[in-house]
Amino acid sequence: MKIPEGLHAFVWRDPTANNANTYLISGSEKVLIDPGHNHLFGNVKDHLSKLSITPQDIDLVILTHGHPDHVEAVRAFVNSRALIALHETEMDFIKTLAPHYGAAMGIKDFQPQILLREGALLLGDMKFQVIHAPGHSPGSICLYWPQEKALFTGDVIFYQGIGRTDLPGGDGQALKESIRRLSELDVEHLLPGHGETVSGGALVKKNFSEVPTSLVSVYLSRERRAWSEEQTARSKMESRRLTADGRPPKEGQRKMPQATTELI
Ligand SMILES: [Zn+2]
Repeated sequence: MKIPEGLHAFVWRDPTANNANTYLISGSEKVLIDPGHNHLFGNVKDHLSKLSITPQDIDLVILTHGHPDHVEAVRAFVNSRALIALHETEMDFIKTLAPHYGAAMGIKDFQPQILLREGALLLGDMKFQVIHAPGHSPGSICLYWPQEKALFTGDVIFYQGIGRTDLPGGDGQALKESIRRLSELDVEHLLPGHGETVSGGALVKKNFSEVPTSLVSVYLSRERRAWSEEQTARSKMESRRLTADGRPPKEGQRKMPQATTELI
């Protein structure tokens, strides 16, 4: 099935580097979804240049969520006219988790100009629907384009897979509910943040129905295991502190885990 006119999928196929798929919507506005890792952005630039487009021509960069493999190349747009959009919950979460997130990514004072919420998003003559889809991360979004029945899913659901929930802010039950909501949409093109795209209503439906519930269960048990391992590690650390200075650690001193660059 043909991908709609004006929609370009730059699918990342090199298995040696964890990088996100990037999508370009080239209509009355030029919208780039998830520019990916900064050091791999040359790949996106090459794709754009084949369409006679440069990063300076992009009007809006939409980030499906805040993991570096999707976001980092916003650096390429710092001095351009492009606005950056991210869900407000994701931005709050990033600020809590990693106050110096922008600096760590090489973007001083990283602050999207647009904080998204669930609802309609009008871009020129194009109408989209922002869907808040937590689970992989608290402020993950999916972007639905009803006119083309296209759904950009970030790391919520892939071809034959679902997003991880064992990273900071992951929540298996929330992911399950997000996927259930998405499965009710009329979708011809499933455009995930990693791996192959899926085109054809029947195939998309099949993918939704075959995303095994058991897979979500595996993730839930992984979350529980990660949590119990963390508890064990913490109690070992606290008992060491107790013997080191003779006093129990104060409540709330535990640091939030740091984000890594290996996130998908
Ligand atoms: Zn991710």
